[in-house]
Amino acid sequence: MNREQLERAVKLLGDEIAVIVPYATFGTAIDLSVYNKLQEQGIPVVIDAAASFGTITPEEAAHFGKGFGGAVVFSFHATKSFGIGEGGLVYSLDQDLIKRIRQAGNFGFSSSRESVTQGLNSKLSEYTAAIALAALDHFKAVRENRRTIYEYYLQELIQADLLDRGWSLQKVQGSVVHQFIPILSPDPYSNQEVVALLASNSIEARTYFSPACHQQKQFQSYSHFTLHVTEHIAKHIVSLPLWEELDEITVRRIVNVLGSLGKETTR
Ligand SMILES: *Cc1c(COP(=O)(O)O)cnc(C)c1O
Repeated sequence: MNREQLERAVKLLGDEIAVIVPYATFGTAIDLSVYNKLQEQGIPVVIDAAASFGTITPEEAAHFGKGFGGAVVFSFHATKSFGIGEGGLVYSLDQDLIKRIRQAGNFGFSSSRESVTQGLNSKLSEYTAAIALAALDHFKAVRENRRTIYEYYLQELIQADLLDRGWSLQKVQGSVVHQFIPILSPDPYSNQEVVALLASNSIEARTYFSPACHQQKQFQSYSHFTLHVTEHIAKHIVSLPLWEELDEITVRRIVNVLGSLGKETTR
């Protein structure tokens, strides 16, 4: 999140702010100090750490989010590195907040089963919890495996000279259990063109997260500052395939297709 724009928004909106939701992009360990300060000023912060389960911070070598006074929300949805079907985890240093979240997720009941707050039923099912425990047993191997695949990509992208030809990978802070391989296409080419080129080579890729939030129907009417960087990314971002059996040869094939962009051969 752009720090200057954040500061401007906080000044402009003041008491109107209900919550600030920064995204720990694709699992990277973002610096939480500025958000801790906002929390201390009484502005609630919820970190969208959907893809960050297993992320280790570079400085303290601790799990991402540790010590944060707001809420850090991890997703266990099927598309995540720690996918158990559906579900997630909320971490906070604030034990009272956790207590209130537990209450809200249990029909808003107090310990005497009196409804004391607005609530819903958000409990993880026993069955899903059993899947989570089984997934946890393999998580170390999953981390290593995904790191190896990420390194194949890095190696092939360097080998094919693509990082010097305008393609760029996300800057990653800390050690991340990679969910996707997000990459930006070079300026003349949109992500749609890249996805179409890959598809014509029988390779499926997605455009997480494009269109950006403010470009979507549900949010278009809300006010926002200029979001040039977001819009640039939304036009160029591609999530390359990552599945756990992906081998080096397939990664090379995918990268070679990227390298052929704009070099349509005529026969
Ligand atoms: C997956 C994801 C979500 C949604 O998580 P759920 O567990 O499905 O609610 C939210 N934000 C980001 C950035 C995600 O990647």
